[in-house]
Amino acid sequence: MQLFIDGNWQDGSLQKTKKVENPATGESVAQVAQAETEDTTRAIEAAQTAFPRWRELELQSRVELLHRVAHLLEEKADKLAKIMTIEQGKPLAEAKSEILTGAENFRFNAEEARRIYGETIPAPNKHVYIVKKEPIGVVAAITPWNFPMGMATRKLAPALAAGNTVILKPSSETPLSALALFEIFEEAGFPRGVVNLLLGNSSEIGKALTASDIVRKLTFTGSTAVGQKLYQESGETLKKISLELGGHAPFIVFSDANLESAADGLVAAKFRNNGQVCVSPNRIFVAKEIEQEFTKLVLERVRNLQVGNGLREGVNVGPLIREDAIHKINRQLKDAAEKGADILIGGERLLDGEGNEKGNFYAPTVLTGVTEQMRIFHEETFGPVIPIISFVSDDEVVKLANDSEFGLASYFYTESLERVEEISNALEYGMVGVNDIAISHPETPFGGVKHSGFGRENGHFGIEEYLNVKFVALKYRT
Ligand code: NAP
Repeated sequence: MQLFIDGNWQDGSLQKTKKVENPATGESVAQVAQAETEDTTRAIEAAQTAFPRWRELELQSRVELLHRVAHLLEEKADKLAKIMTIEQGKPLAEAKSEILTGAENFRFNAEEARRIYGETIPAPNKHVYIVKKEPIGVVAAITPWNFPMGMATRKLAPALAAGNTVILKPSSETPLSALALFEIFEEAGFPRGVVNLLLGNSSEIGKALTASDIVRKLTFTGSTAVGQKLYQESGETLKKISLELGGHAPFIVFSDANLESAADGLVAAKFRNNGQVCVSPNRIFVAKEIEQEFTKLVLERVRNLQVGNGLREGVNVGPLIREDAIHKINRQLKDAAEKGADILIGGERLLDGEGNEKGNFYAPTVLTGVTEQMRIFHEETFGPVIPIISFVSDDEVVKLANDSEFGLASYFYTESLERVEEISNALEYGMVGVNDIAISHPETPFGGVKHSGFGRENGHFGIEEYLNVKFVALKYRT
């Protein structure tokens, strides 16, 4: 499977390929081309050449192309979902919902393209002050493996809607969904050079993208460590940059919460994509007086989860992406157990079950007695683990919840109006779910603070990231 540069499918210049593995079976499912610096340079030049024509294209034509992508994603959703489950592992229903969200991302931004409003500013007599919004130029997007379609569409849809041309570098773990998206761009009839796809050695491609003065914007979703590196590298060429990085979400259950609803929310949010989600609840703070009752409700739900190959009917938790994810979880749990935590369920790799012996399966895990002294309190887990920490007062839990270098998502459950206002103000996070875990929608701003990065995706905030502001001062009589 090949790179897509300047409207053509092609091999990388060194003719190398890399295999893609199914994390549920360990089988090789595809061989994909690998780009080097030379291919990256060609993609940058193609995007640069295509930019003037794309920005000048009639708005209606651009809007129609974006709607066509949405339509094709919907039409092919079942086939694309299967591709995603095979390369990434998530259950088929989750994969299909991600494809449909990808379609929504294109629809929303097709509509948003019509609303890139400028401003006029009160000016002295005989003057007009105009603010225009313009596309930035060539945009590079680097995306992770956990939401291969969600992340790519969340970046490319607004970038294209704003009139930019793009280069996508998806994760080497999950290139097949990106390849399928580019087949859709081709089928939709995008002009050559407007969308370009590079697969391959990430640090080499990343360096070539960040070093280029032609690339004027870099948008990245992935780990904080790689985000910091790209931020530094982009400093040389002073690019506009957005970083959606790691998270370590607190999930707080106050004593006045609806406990059934909180337990449903926690288990749904935690085991979505097997916990491999930047907004996954990672530190579960539960008021001491309801801890036993709440933990019982959580355990009842966790026992009902079916772990296995995401293609199988009834499975709601798939494999982890790589074997080293299993070792990371084991390390965190060992450390927690040594420091006094109790593992109530799970805590080990799952080898039994139909065909599970070859995949990266992990038993859904719940532990109590977690404290600030444990690694799991501070490190992003990215796996199916619920660590419960008990608390006594509101002040104490806010302090504990904010005790993290990350600041992406946070959640709390309460029936108190006063708490809703006070706690949502006090949490140092970009997003707060109050009695709700659904915090990501095409219409609403998604992003973090602190080491979770900066910039916002989705909503009208999302498209602003791909626009420059130009001020025109006009004196119409001299
Ligand atoms: P990652 O290792 O940082 O990789 C992300 C992307 O960066 C991949 O395409 C990867 O390519 C590429 N990459 C790696 N090293 C690079 C380098 N030196 N230069 C340029 N590109 C480089 O992250 P991941 O393991 O895929 O994803 C998990 C992380 O993403 C978690 O920390 C999670 O919290 C975060 N995340 C954040 C959000 C958000 O919206 N805030 C959403 C989803 C995930 P290769 O795979 O080919 O190396």
